[in-house]
Amino acid sequence: MPITVEHVTHFLTAAAALIHERRDELTALDAAIGDADHGANLDRGFTAVMARLPSVADKDIGTVLKTTGMTIVSTVGGASGPLYGTAFVRAGMALADRHELSTEEVLLALEAALDGIVARGKAQRGEKTMVDALAPAIEALRAALAAGEPLGRALQAAADAAEGGAKATIPMLALKGRASYLGERSIGHQDPGATSTAYLLRALAMTCSR
Ligand code: ADP
Ligand code: MG
Ligand code: MG
Repeated sequence: MPITVEHVTHFLTAAAALIHERRDELTALDAAIGDADHGANLDRGFTAVMARLPSVADKDIGTVLKTTGMTIVSTVGGASGPLYGTAFVRAGMALADRHELSTEEVLLALEAALDGIVARGKAQRGEKTMVDALAPAIEALRAALAAGEPLGRALQAAADAAEGGAKATIPMLALKGRASYLGERSIGHQDPGATSTAYLLRALAMTCSR
C-alpha cells in the first residue's frame, strides 16, 4: 500500500499529540543538561504545524513537509527549531511533487532529513544529540527493508532503534549544543533531542502500521 498525503497528515497529527503528551518529560530532560525548554519549544512548534495543516492538506507530500519545516523554524526556536525545521524541509525537497510514496522513498526522506540535520548542526554520532537517535533508526529501517520486511514492521524496527539510540545517549559526553557547556556533568543524562526524535519515529511507525 503506497504512502499518501493522508498518511503524512496522520503522522504529523500523531507526532503533535505525542509531543504534547511528553512535553513535561522532554522539558525535565532539558532541565538536567540544558535550559528546560525542549518540551515547550516542540509543543509550541507542533501546535503551529497543526494549525497550518488544513491549508496544505490537499497539496503534494513535499509541500506538506516543507511547510511543516518552515513552520517549525519560525516557531520552535533554540537549537532544535532550525535542526528539525531543516530536517522537514529537506525531506520535503526530496519528495517534491510526490502524491504517493514507495517504501524506498520513505527511507530516502529520512536520509535527507538526517543529512539536513548534520549539514546544519555538524554533529557526529556519539556526541549526544538527536543524530544518535535518527542515524540508528535509518540503519534499522534500511536493514529491515533490505530483508524484505513490510514498511510498517520496518518502521517499528526503526522506532525501536531510535528509542535504543536515545537511551544510549545517557553515558555520552555532550559535544554539541547547550549540554556541551556542562562538560563531564552532561554524562548520566538522556539527551532531550534524541528523546523527541525517538517519539517522532514512534509516531511515524504508528501511522504506517495501521
Ligand atoms: P536549546 O538547547 O537551544 O534550548 P532545545 O532545548 O529545543 O534547544 O533542543 C536541544 C536539543 O537540540 C539537544 O538535546 C540536542 O539533541 C539538539 N542539538 C543541539 N545542538 C545540536 C547539533 N549541533 N546537532 C544536532 N542536534 C543538536
Ligand atoms: Mg533547551
Ligand atoms: Mg533554549
